[in-house]
Amino acid sequence: MATQLTPVDLVVIGGGPGGYVAAIRAAQLGLQTVCVEMERTLGGTCVNIGCIPSKALLDSSHHYEFAAHGAKAHGIGIGDLTIDVATMLKRKDDVVGQNTKGLEFLFRKNKITWARGRGTLRPGNVVDVTPSESGDAASYQAKHVIIATGSVPVELPFLRFDEERVLSNVGALKIAHVPKHLIVIGGGVIGLELGSVWRRLGAKVTVIELMATILPGMDDELVKEATRVFSRQGLELRTGTKVTAGRREGDRVTVEIAKDGGAETLEGDYVLVAVGRRPSLEGIDASALGLELGRRGEILVDDQMRTNLPNVYAIGDCVPGPMLAHKAEEEGVVAAEVIAGQQAHMHYRSIPGIVYTWPEIAAVGMTEREARESGREYRVGRFPFTANGRARTAGETAGFVKFVADARTDELLGCHMVGPSVSELVAEVVLAFEYGASSDDIGLTVHAHPTLSEAVKEAALGALGRAVHI
Ligand SMILES: Cc1cc2nc3c(=O)[nH]c(=O)nc-3n(C[C@H](O)[C@H](O)[C@H](O)COP(=O)(O)OP(=O)(O)OC[C@H]3O[C@@H](n4cnc5c(N)ncnc54)[C@H](O)[C@@H]3O)c2cc1C
Repeated sequence: MATQLTPVDLVVIGGGPGGYVAAIRAAQLGLQTVCVEMERTLGGTCVNIGCIPSKALLDSSHHYEFAAHGAKAHGIGIGDLTIDVATMLKRKDDVVGQNTKGLEFLFRKNKITWARGRGTLRPGNVVDVTPSESGDAASYQAKHVIIATGSVPVELPFLRFDEERVLSNVGALKIAHVPKHLIVIGGGVIGLELGSVWRRLGAKVTVIELMATILPGMDDELVKEATRVFSRQGLELRTGTKVTAGRREGDRVTVEIAKDGGAETLEGDYVLVAVGRRPSLEGIDASALGLELGRRGEILVDDQMRTNLPNVYAIGDCVPGPMLAHKAEEEGVVAAEVIAGQQAHMHYRSIPGIVYTWPEIAAVGMTEREARESGREYRVGRFPFTANGRARTAGETAGFVKFVADARTDELLGCHMVGPSVSELVAEVVLAFEYGASSDDIGLTVHAHPTLSEAVKEAALGALGRAVHI
């Protein structure tokens, strides 16, 4: 018997940061909303196998590293230092659980139906749900559909993920003991963050990056400082290096690399392949639906998140732009508000990018190279954390804040930071961007003393040649 079609205002396919935020905003605006998620928990990559668990492990390993190497300078003696990886992993799982339960609560509060299963979009905005475990199949006739199916990690053809020794982010977040030698393929955000976790706990970590530097695309000066600090910490960074082959044999992994005509074989006990992610189109047969895709298989959308299909929207990692949770969330809000008849638009100028290593890295807007290549005249202001009182009290003086501002108008073009807690400092700069502030505006703003945020003010003043403490 054919499943009966249930009419609803909106079906969101995918319950990650894009999908669940879109569902909540739509429900707040009075739309009868169903969110289809095929995993056992809401939250998608970010909450379950991305942002949240990686930050939980980064926090645990940061404490360990402080106990091992930082505490002594404060006069704190710690006896036999141990790391119980099982407890650390359980804590991470508990943190994830708190977040996923929080999302279930928010769904109940906003009266959103969670259809547990795999959603398939059919022509005419019908969404079929095949239950993941037990339960009945369902079909919805949706007035509007939001595709929020996220992304999946790119695999290397010669190193298929087994999540035991050949790992994606999924396996790297649950290694049961500290590796002896973790080989990380990819010197981007995910490789550096997860590599840092295990390096801090005592693993030898080698990062192999095809491009000339780690963190390709970020500001050159920032990359230089990060390279210096990470190398001093003991991360072995092999840039401009190609991985040509790899294999697992029992508990060992072997990776063949090539640089400048020379070849080398690396042996380790784990390899993390972090060479990028690609849009997921699970349950979306683009060619059958006539859905327009870009070159990387991403769903093409306008600035109101509309696809080329009537009343079908797409958001998050499956559409163009940086694969970031906060970008997905904003797109979710825009799509929901547009569906509800509001005039929302997505703009991408002020989306910060953060690397949660230590020191942290945060950036928003143009790099200095981009400013140069745009042909406009610009000024640069820099302030190092060595000259910041609060950084000195904490013994965290690596890094700097750097502004790029238009030389004629003083408009802020970009900000690049490496240093302690810059993931929090960047929020001020994003707000300044949103309000169209100049470096003079930030320089005129009182910043409490002694705080790390004074480095932001001083760097802004630096762009005007008026920094005080340097
Ligand atoms: C290790 C790691 C660390 C990261 N750290 C950060 C960070 O610190 N900050 C940051 O901003 N970003 C971070 N990211 C990126 C972030 O996780 C993604 O940008 C974000 O999750 C994208 O959200 P989304 O909703 O588009 O997709 P996803 O989070 O991927 O969610 C998509 C959801 O859709 C479901 N789904 C797919 N197809 C179907 C279907 N047909 N039916 C039902 N359900 C379906 C999937 O099961 C999934 O739950 C990290 C990623 C990784 C891997």
